[in-house]
Amino acid sequence: MISANSIIAKMKNQKINYDKVMRKMINEWQRSDKRPSILIHSCCAPCSTYTLELLTQYADVAIYFANPNIHPKREYERRAKVQEDFVERFNERMNTNVKYIEAPYEPHKFMKMVKGKGLAEENEGGLRCTACFEMRLELVAEAAANLGYDYFASALTLSPKKNAQLINELGMEVQDIFHVYYLPSDFKKNKGYERSIKMCNEYEIYRQCYCGCVFAAMKQGIDFKEVNQNAKAYLESCSKSCL
Ligand code: SF4
Ligand code: SF4
Repeated sequence: MISANSIIAKMKNQKINYDKVMRKMINEWQRSDKRPSILIHSCCAPCSTYTLELLTQYADVAIYFANPNIHPKREYERRAKVQEDFVERFNERMNTNVKYIEAPYEPHKFMKMVKGKGLAEENEGGLRCTACFEMRLELVAEAAANLGYDYFASALTLSPKKNAQLINELGMEVQDIFHVYYLPSDFKKNKGYERSIKMCNEYEIYRQCYCGCVFAAMKQGIDFKEVNQNAKAYLESCSKSCL
């Protein structure tokens, strides 16, 4: 399989356009008649919509839900359920076979990392988010290596609120630790973000009102009682409809 490094090495003296790197990698898969396997990290359904629509055309894809940052637990469970449901409905509608894999929920590891590095007071978009991206890229890279995927990737580059350049730089570093190739991306490009909004409407996908961690949510004034009540109501409605 082709690595992003081999493409970036040829793009001398240019600011790296990670969308272009991904497109060149896809062209190379097609040219050599290969259909790689990719494990994609996602933290809730919206960013996975267009990401799946695009990549399932060229690769065998699985979503990896590994998000120890999400607080509280009920909200975590809600986002996981929404993600799993979306994958199932996407498969039915598109006749695809995307897998959904969920990592154990280990919020204490995220809290320990944030407090250990003194990042609790950081603003959203600051150093805590860098560490949070890195932690989750490491989780998906480790899983991809253990499960034998050709690449790992991140759906978060679809979000205009997330620093895709930074996520890609971290992914490029993390691939060397776990010895599995990183697929760079900037899924918001080529109207990817606009398409994700349409898909969220088509599939009636829940869009959360805060990124995930307790620190950013508190700064944003999120009412956790309301979050818990809404998540509980959603999860109860799911379990009733499954009976
Ligand atoms: S970046 Fe935001 S919208 Fe995208 S998957 Fe994560 S929580 Fe959801
Ligand atoms: S704001 Fe979002 S990306 Fe930043 S640390 Fe919190 S959960 Fe992670």
